[in-house]
Amino acid sequence: MKPVLYIVIPCYNEQEVLPITAPQFLTKLLVLRDLGKISDESRVLFVNDGSRDRTWEIIRELAASDPHYLGISQSRNRGHQNAVLAGLMEAKDRCDITISIDCDGQDDIDAMDRMVDAYLDGCEVVYGVRASRRTDTFFKRFTAQSFYKFLAAMGAEVVYNHADYRLISARVLQELAGFREVNLFLRGLVPLVGFKSTTVSYDRAERLAGKSHYPLRKMIALAMDGITSLSVKPLRLITGFGVFVALVSFFGVVWAIVTALSGRSIEGWASMTCIVCFVSGVQLISLGIIGEYIGKTYLEVKQRPRYIISERTWEAAEEAPKS
Ligand code: UDP
Ligand code: MG
Repeated sequence: MKPVLYIVIPCYNEQEVLPITAPQFLTKLLVLRDLGKISDESRVLFVNDGSRDRTWEIIRELAASDPHYLGISQSRNRGHQNAVLAGLMEAKDRCDITISIDCDGQDDIDAMDRMVDAYLDGCEVVYGVRASRRTDTFFKRFTAQSFYKFLAAMGAEVVYNHADYRLISARVLQELAGFREVNLFLRGLVPLVGFKSTTVSYDRAERLAGKSHYPLRKMIALAMDGITSLSVKPLRLITGFGVFVALVSFFGVVWAIVTALSGRSIEGWASMTCIVCFVSGVQLISLGIIGEYIGKTYLEVKQRPRYIISERTWEAAEEAPKS
């Protein structure tokens, strides 16, 4: 039996690029089918992430034009990670393998052949890894590289230069469904599920149209989510730093006593001020980090749904004749 492949594509305000890339995804799907690697039941599944432009209309038109296109729409914008999860969870009971990819044409779709080959060779997860970032601007390259290095330093292990272009088998997705966190960072979660995995490298191109939704602010937010959802290392660093400051202050106490006994205690004003400023700064930062974890705990205990699907193209199609 040939595997059923679902290509899962999150789309947020992508009316410029979708008409260009959608046919490319379909062509790829049909080529893979004609090569006999995947079943004809395979589909291109778009996830509209609460777009404010014509994206959802375009997806519906695509679905009406060819049965290989499907679309689901989230009830509002929930962010890239949640959109990908919504698509994967929707696909997991209908297919054998999924490939998630951005809709802007930056990720080389020809890498899909190698991903499917790796699956056919027995891998359950195949990570797409960027071979180079030549086409990215210096700023994007620098911030993206700092992102991975910072994550690694903070104990959040992710596959280097891997974004959300990856193949995951339905079997792994069933297990991933058991990871109930609301604070979602798929790149870190998928490796935690385990199973046999490999990487496939590809060149990353420029966006075909439209503009990036990941400015520095969102990258920092994603890094924070990644770190706090995968690791408690920052909390340990605080403890380590506290121990260090306590040791230093031990010498400070000795110095203060010696100074006081020698009758020169009034001169300590400047050093006292510095120490108070330093320690209160450290305490505030530490409180902030601890607060970040408490906030995340608060969001987790509420167990709110991670995505809400408001429309599906195939349901709309089934309802149509009734009305
Ligand atoms: N995206 C989404 N929801 C959002 C922001 C982005 O579904 O709130 C999608 C977007 O349509 C694209 C993918 O996530 O398919 C990656 O976004 P983008 O290309 O803007 O990020 P970059 O490649 O610049 O990091
Ligand atoms: Mg992009």
